[in-house]
Amino acid sequence: MPQLCKIIPERCIACGLCAVYAPDTFDYDDEGIVLFAQDPSAHQQFISEENANQVLLAYQKCPTRAIVIEK
Ligand code: SF4
Repeated sequence: MPQLCKIIPERCIACGLCAVYAPDTFDYDDEGIVLFAQDPSAHQQFISEENANQVLLAYQKCPTRAIVIEK
């Protein structure tokens, strides 16, 4: 079962950590607020198995819980 990852841009403080840990999944808008690299207008996305560990790390490191993983 793929994991569903959600982002909550309202909580994001533009710290940049998630794209350090999961550069294939996360990117930023012009103000540094998180978005999905492959689908910038989406607020949720299924995570492929190959990216799952990176995304889990980004989720754990996000200081404001702007990244949510649902199983
Ligand atoms: S780690 Fe969290 S607060 Fe930092 S840029 Fe990513 S989503 Fe925003």
